[in-house]
Amino acid sequence: MKTLFEEIKASIKNNYNQDRSFWRPVLPWGGVFTIKAGRKAVSCTPLYVEIRLKNTCTIDGFLMLLYVILNENENFPRELSLHLGREFVDCFLYLMDTYSFTTVKLLWIWDKMEKQQYKSEVHKASLIIDLFGNEHDNFTKNLENLMSTIQESYCSNWRCPTRVQEDQQRTININPPQEIPHGNLIRLAVDELFCSRIELCEESGCGGLREFSQRVFCHGAPPFVVLNMQHWKSEDLAYVPYYLDLSDHKYLLEGATLFNKEEHHYSAAFQIDGHWMHYDGLRNVNLILLNKPPEFLLLSSLVYIRATEK
Ligand SMILES: [Zn+2]
Repeated sequence: MKTLFEEIKASIKNNYNQDRSFWRPVLPWGGVFTIKAGRKAVSCTPLYVEIRLKNTCTIDGFLMLLYVILNENENFPRELSLHLGREFVDCFLYLMDTYSFTTVKLLWIWDKMEKQQYKSEVHKASLIIDLFGNEHDNFTKNLENLMSTIQESYCSNWRCPTRVQEDQQRTININPPQEIPHGNLIRLAVDELFCSRIELCEESGCGGLREFSQRVFCHGAPPFVVLNMQHWKSEDLAYVPYYLDLSDHKYLLEGATLFNKEEHHYSAAFQIDGHWMHYDGLRNVNLILLNKPPEFLLLSSLVYIRATEK
């Protein structure tokens, strides 16, 4: 049997202009997991016999992206195992490859999420897990130390009470630059976060100059990065860069997650071999091949993968 990834690749190759959809639903929204009770379970009253998942769009798009990324480069599974655990990566790939969509979501929920990040309750014979919320809370923050970065700064004034400072961040949050109306705002914002710079020290009455070193990844340049774009307005997203330089490494745009505010619903777009696809777990036909790159007007995040060094 072909893996899900092989099937998606085959469908891109064989697509006809009339039919740009994948042959069957991929990672559908929600999910029901039926617990097959063994003989021992008969003696006690089971609390629930199935698990129902609700509002899973806060993890679905990223799980699709993670799956595509792990298949894009043969070294990525091993590298990501260092951050996410070997067992998790192997299990994740196996479940996605074999179309076990509800189980793969449960793997993420139980292995990577904290209990307080989702609501769960028993209703009749079902355990209901509700993932309503923000996808950065439900996914990006649970990537362990994958994207941890650190930046040091020194004040030129010897008497500055906070002469040496360290700024460590676990996720990559960029904000639209103020006062610059046009241009490649995303690249500017990334440079602002990563590049060295000199600023007036903010310590009151100090008056010294504060020199910020280049921001570096604490555990080496990761296979992929997620830029949190939720504070950006559509008008600031006219230009989405296909390449980014982060901490001396080149990164290529791999995909994005999109957020529809009215419906409070997330979907995702990603590319495979230069072909862009849109994934929306709620649709009946939930994976479609686009005939051009998507418009990134309702971005929740941008996802870049590290370019192979030559
Ligand atoms: Zn100072």
